[in-house]
Amino acid sequence: MLVGTYNSSIVFASVLIAALASYTTLQLASRIATLQRGSVRRRWLAGGACAMGLGIWSMHFVGMLAFSLPIPLGYDPALTLLSLAIAVTVAYFALDLVTQADLSHRRLGISGILLGLGIASMHYTGMFAMRMAPGIEYDLGFVVLSIAIAIAAATAALWIAFTLRHDALQYVRLRRIGAALVMGIAIAGMHYTGMYAANFPAGSICGAASDLSLNWLAVTILVITLNVLTVALVLSVLDSRMERSATRFTRSLQYQATHDALTGLPNRYLLSDRVHHAIERSARAKTQFALYFIDLDAFKAINDSLGHSVGDQLLKAIADRLRQAMRKEDTVARIGGDEFVVLAEELAGFGAAVNVAEKVLAAFKTDIELPSSRIRTSPSIGISLYPDDGTTIDTLLSHADAAMYEAKASGRNAYRFFEEAMNIANKRAIEIQQGLHHAIESAQLFLQYQPKWDCRHRTLLGAEALLRWHHPELGLVSPAEFIPAAEQSGQIIAIDLWVIEQVCRQLIAWRDAGLAPIRIAVNLSRINFRSPALVDEITRITDRYAIDRSMLMFEITESVAMQNAEATKETIERMQQAGFDLAIDDFGTGYSSLSYLQQFSVRQLKVDRMFVSSLCADDSKAASVVAAIINLAHALDMEVVAEGVETEAQLTILRTLSCDAMQGYLLAKPLPSADFANLLQRAGRDNSPAVTAD
Ligand code: C2E
Ligand code: MG
Ligand code: MG
Repeated sequence: MLVGTYNSSIVFASVLIAALASYTTLQLASRIATLQRGSVRRRWLAGGACAMGLGIWSMHFVGMLAFSLPIPLGYDPALTLLSLAIAVTVAYFALDLVTQADLSHRRLGISGILLGLGIASMHYTGMFAMRMAPGIEYDLGFVVLSIAIAIAAATAALWIAFTLRHDALQYVRLRRIGAALVMGIAIAGMHYTGMYAANFPAGSICGAASDLSLNWLAVTILVITLNVLTVALVLSVLDSRMERSATRFTRSLQYQATHDALTGLPNRYLLSDRVHHAIERSARAKTQFALYFIDLDAFKAINDSLGHSVGDQLLKAIADRLRQAMRKEDTVARIGGDEFVVLAEELAGFGAAVNVAEKVLAAFKTDIELPSSRIRTSPSIGISLYPDDGTTIDTLLSHADAAMYEAKASGRNAYRFFEEAMNIANKRAIEIQQGLHHAIESAQLFLQYQPKWDCRHRTLLGAEALLRWHHPELGLVSPAEFIPAAEQSGQIIAIDLWVIEQVCRQLIAWRDAGLAPIRIAVNLSRINFRSPALVDEITRITDRYAIDRSMLMFEITESVAMQNAEATKETIERMQQAGFDLAIDDFGTGYSSLSYLQQFSVRQLKVDRMFVSSLCADDSKAASVVAAIINLAHALDMEVVAEGVETEAQLTILRTLSCDAMQGYLLAKPLPSADFANLLQRAGRDNSPAVTAD
């Protein structure tokens, strides 16, 4: 029996090579684990398998170099290559396995056995490549033990590589070095157990001694292996670093695209995404979720008065409060200036949705402490529920928005759940609001003239200019509907001035057509009447058209007149000094102070249609009220105009009560300017300043 001896420092080197190969494998595995299936991954797997296979294989040959027999040794090139091929092949499958998303115990077990058998067969093929004659006698017990060690080592190595495949783990480098040492010792242990199983009978000859000299072969392999392992290691480390910084960069871009820069909250884009997923989840699980559209009350005023930086601080503070008030799984997003949206999922019914709304309201109950000031603000909250109020992102958001407008209209600092009726009303309100922007330029506005008659003689006294709007989609919109909207948005200022200008042009056109001069009444909105520039604006227009100021009369409603009676008195005086007469419109619908009424000394009092319509022969009470108004007006030296006279009976009563003038459908509806011109023409033909109605 030939007795083999071992060079201990080369044995040590072989263990180190096994450890280095293991470390490289772990590093490669972490790189490959980040790759999607495809050609890039396959290339990395192939490269990694070469490095790992070569590593294990060369460990085997360095181990052989540590071993010497008292006869010359060599290796058969074909069998040697075969053993290398086996090593690379098993390495490929091992790497592929540990870089998958999951690894079941069953798969780990089976793969461990296959990899272990692969390594063992590489070893014994390598031994066979010595072509010993007579053949090597193996001790079966140790052979089995070496295979068992190979399987155990392979299974452990697979499991370690799988668990350490993510770079983000804590102390990952240190753990990989430790694991690589353990793996290296296990692989080397298999080799030396296998060697221990081999007995070389006395007189054995190595048939391959002349093929490849062991020393020469081992040194070459060692150099190649070290190179390959180092290159693989450096490449994989560099590549994962690049990958990591690219990932970081992509993540930061992604963050910026999906978050609001000021508050760090998700933006509209991310919100849509979350709502989209909420819809999918809720549809599957048949659950409800709610969207809360939150708009801050009076944020614009804070921004304008305290400056934008305070506004920004406030928004940030509110973002924090909302985030704290909500559950972790809810989304709080900012989708516009002072608009926030909360998405609350998996709500157990309507009560839960109410609770969330109360929580949002409560978040605003205390002052917000800012570096420069303390501010208290309130929210208006509109709520839409999935699936009741909509099943798409757009409808849910627009319904929550509509409900928010209702909350604002109801006096703010409140929440409202969406109702179908809101939708229709709101859509129309929004269309009107938006349409008003181009109503003037697009020539959609025009005037009609409702004649005013003398009650006793039914002769034409003048007319009231009434505004009409032909909306491209909604058709004719009543001023009762669009004037309040125009007042809200401030557009009424331009509209009223446009009406005055239009009336001036019309007066000139009629004059140029040879028609008798006639006095036109123009309605003034509250906003214009309160504007300090009012008298200047009106005189500028009338002067431009060289209109006799007494041809215009202005109507203000009773409620506007009484709202700030002192200011009203002043404005009326200035208007009268400038030569314009005034009328108090819709009299009887508000609360009048008789003392102010006396001080105003306007020219006309217009009795509201409400009183006129209740006038009929057998209702003496209504007649008494109207009689009282007429007497009061006459006592204050004012003319009385009855509005909305629709029947002869009403006119008869008005006449007996000494009402001065009237307007109403009985004698004429508001007329297009051409029709009114015809009426005027007849007045001219009759050579009288007024005309009798048909
Ligand atoms: P108002 O100034 O009291 O105008 C009288 C309203 O009564 C007009 O309604 C007129 O068409 C209507 N009317 C007249 N006779 C009868 C009748 O016999 N029966 C009935 N049922 N109604 C009658 P309109 O044109 O819809 O105007 C509504 C209100 O809109 C006006 O009330 C006025 O406050 C405002 N408005 C109209 N034009 C203007 C304008 O140019 N500027 C401003 N600021 N407000 C205007
Ligand atoms: Mg009027
Ligand atoms: Mg009126």
